Amino acid sequence: MSWIDAHRTSGRLDGRCLCGAVRIVVDGSHVAAVSVCHCGMCQRSTGYAYGSFVADAEAVTVEGAVATYASTPFSSRSFCPTCGSHLWLRDNEAGEYELFPGLFPAAAEFPLVSEIYTDRRPAYVPLAGDHRTKTQAEYEADNPHVEGDA
Ligand SMILES: [Zn+2]
Ligand SMILES: [Zn+2]
Repeated sequence: MSWIDAHRTSGRLDGRCLCGAVRIVVDGSHVAAVSVCHCGMCQRSTGYAYGSFVADAEAVTVEGAVATYASTPFSSRSFCPTCGSHLWLRDNEAGEYELFPGLFPAAAEFPLVSEIYTDRRPAYVPLAGDHRTKTQAEYEADNPHVEGDA
């Protein structure tokens, strides 16, 4: 079992965007823990810090219209076209959802377990604690990424 799967669980989480036009139900396998990314794309996309938790595609049901932006050749980011709330990022191949925890009140209890691109972390995002960390070079050594992202 991988370190992230130690946090895998099942059960139901109910979420929605700011305006309520998009409703998301997670009912099934998901990781009850948050991972943060400080890469340039995530900073621009959220305007602050990107944090998400993973849910299997089969566990996720979405109601309402969603807009999607293909931010890389291998992934896309979705948001509510009415209120602009960030909803999720999906890897084209894995298919699983990386959902924004702030949409789900129950996720407020999730621990922070991973932080990547730590050498790109802005001074105004102080994340403390004992969790896994990787710099840009460490992460890009064995994960798909976009060259020259800034
Ligand atoms: Zn909305
Ligand atoms: Zn990122």
